[in-house]
Amino acid sequence: MLPFKLIYHERYDLNLGTHVFPSQKYRLIADKLTKDAVASREDFLHPEPASDTDILRVHTGDWVNKLKTGTLTLSDVMKLEVPYSPELVSAFWLAAGGTISAAQSALRDGFGCNLGGGFHHAHPGHGEGFCAIHDVAVAIRRLQADGAIRKAMVVDTDVHHGNGTAAIFAKQPSVFTLSIHQLNNYPAYKPPSTVDLDMPDQIGDAAYLANLLSAVCAGMDSFQPEILFYVGGADPYQGDQLGGLSLTMDGLAARDKNVFEEARRRNIPVVTTLAGGYARRIEDTVQIHVNTILAAREVAQLHPHQQAAGK
Ligand SMILES: [Zn+2]
Repeated sequence: MLPFKLIYHERYDLNLGTHVFPSQKYRLIADKLTKDAVASREDFLHPEPASDTDILRVHTGDWVNKLKTGTLTLSDVMKLEVPYSPELVSAFWLAAGGTISAAQSALRDGFGCNLGGGFHHAHPGHGEGFCAIHDVAVAIRRLQADGAIRKAMVVDTDVHHGNGTAAIFAKQPSVFTLSIHQLNNYPAYKPPSTVDLDMPDQIGDAAYLANLLSAVCAGMDSFQPEILFYVGGADPYQGDQLGGLSLTMDGLAARDKNVFEEARRRNIPVVTTLAGGYARRIEDTVQIHVNTILAAREVAQLHPHQQAAGK
């Protein structure tokens, strides 16, 4: 049994068929965690979809209405880069509910892991790059509205810049955003995060980890977040079809473990979400995401969570 919850729903699948985004990965990750005896039935929580009130703290009424009524323009669909379907919309509402649930779990247990989410390209008024609803932003705004936290930090390790996160939280002193990504990659325009780590093509494990960890530690120490949202991209992996960095499977696992350890040393609860992953073999993408959960388990055992008084 795990010392934290895994948040998962079978309707996370975005219903994309043979698309470069392997949306069956959500089910494959949940299945592998069960099959490898990492998790059993009681470790899973099934989320409710986020409420429209939750979604509307981040997104415009116009965008929410377009998604709910299936009235996206051709330009909206081209930017989103995934075909519209009602199942797609319900999957995004569920993923946002999942990240809210993971965040609430993290405040209680020290970790909370959504086996979905991480849709960091979604903007308030439009979707982009397979992302329609920004689940992490929705969860941060929900926790703040509930008075559960004031300050949150987002560490985004997807190979693509977290442009939606940066745009949503620009000039918002309560949220510290850090993105480590490949400079020469989508999105062409990268609005500034609090800290942007622009990595050159084909950077390997050691240099990437050194850059990431020094910035994460400096950010945590100066900003003192009450919760950390970790957007765990599998696409910095060497040979990723949409990425151009050269991290190994072990390097990616070390990335996750090191960030989690730095947070836990400071007693900061950690929420994990997935993000992109486009390895030629889907088994590799699944293993990288599973390894994030294994890293969380290892760090949770090494550094037990001390719940803050009154929370
Ligand atoms: Zn990506």
